Amino acid sequence: MNNHELFERAQRVIPGGVNSPVRAFRAVGGTPRFIARAQGPHMFDAEGKRYIDYIGSWGPMILGHGHPAVLEAVQKAALDGFSFGAPTEREVELAEEILSLVPSMEQVRLVSSGTEAAMSALRLARGATGRKKIVKFEGCYHGHADALLVKAGSGLATFGNPTSAGVPPEVVQHTLVLEYNNLAQLDDAFSRHGPEIACVMIEPIAGNMNFVRASVPFMTRLRELCTKHGALLVFDEVMTGFRVALGGAQSLYAQAIPGFEPDMSVFGKVIGGGMPLAAFGAKRAVMEQLAPLGPVYQAGTLSGNPIATACGLATLREIRKPGFFEALAASTRSLVDGLLGAAKDAGVPMAGDSEGGMFGFFFADALPQNYGAVLATDKERFNRFFHGMLDEGVYFAPALYEAGFVSAAHTADDIADTVQSARKVWK
Ligand code: PLP
Repeated sequence: MNNHELFERAQRVIPGGVNSPVRAFRAVGGTPRFIARAQGPHMFDAEGKRYIDYIGSWGPMILGHGHPAVLEAVQKAALDGFSFGAPTEREVELAEEILSLVPSMEQVRLVSSGTEAAMSALRLARGATGRKKIVKFEGCYHGHADALLVKAGSGLATFGNPTSAGVPPEVVQHTLVLEYNNLAQLDDAFSRHGPEIACVMIEPIAGNMNFVRASVPFMTRLRELCTKHGALLVFDEVMTGFRVALGGAQSLYAQAIPGFEPDMSVFGKVIGGGMPLAAFGAKRAVMEQLAPLGPVYQAGTLSGNPIATACGLATLREIRKPGFFEALAASTRSLVDGLLGAAKDAGVPMAGDSEGGMFGFFFADALPQNYGAVLATDKERFNRFFHGMLDEGVYFAPALYEAGFVSAAHTADDIADTVQSARKVWK
């Protein structure tokens, strides 16, 4: 069956033909590619067409597809059993490995998706502080837990409106939505609600509005305000964790802001290496509020799954090898520089940025600093570029709101081919 036939068939039995909305290509139009297999930096669709993959399963595939050490670990683990619902040594090993790379956390709990991790972190923050209100930022995505599916209301620092049907307004009445990188709104929110705020959740480099960095002054102020008012600063590093740097985005802010650390962190994607695995962690005093030690309930049948932990451990062991992130960052930077250079030659206004193995580009003169500015970039041009590149065998994310990812398997030739394709498409 070709992609089109598969999509027709899928739409009969699965809503929209997909199990996660962005896969349906609604933002860019056209028929989604049904992927049959992937190897290294490449994916192959149902028609046998090859693509250079810059999505990497939306982040997890930092080593590329089918890395031999990861495959071996998963195959070995599968032979020992799929799931026990009892503790295993391997989940302890993975927890130790994660904690050794993220010094802001003293304990971590493993779960199965980023949504679950963010939702649990939120409950823990509320349970640990005894407060109700939470703050998030417009354009940041933290999975689809009810309290986090919120957009800003009208006016400054107002409580939000649900972004999904099925979320009663009462459920988000304690969620305050602010503009990313807006210091004045931050000050205003804390001066009005400071003693009631349980936590502020933020994507430190926001990958769900393409690629927008929280500025250092913004992060500095956010840290100060959270400390002053006793609110927990929660870093959602589901995307940035083990991706922008070995220690995540928090390690980068710690370089820029002396003594900086978040109070709680949420991970996913890379720590599972492509298997369903995510985590949240904090200092011991906070984590001990969780069941079975404390009053905050959280659980999971498949949490710490033996195959997922094997996959995650093998992935982390590869990425902590000396020089890994330097090479990945250089490769990713060369992609962005190549695209920007080609755009300039073609007279196409384009701005781009990258950190570690994560990148973003916009059809705009300058990098946006918040969601409103991202919305103002040239969507029509993005969509045409996306389809032009897809035809050329280059698979970027099918929506301009998404970051891109380079893996260690992408070679200089893959990058050069991509830039060459962009030149052709712009022509
Ligand atoms: N947080 C961030 C920053 C994400 O990018 C995502 C997913 O893309 C999530 C949370 C939710 O993770 P999951 O899709 O594994 O539920």
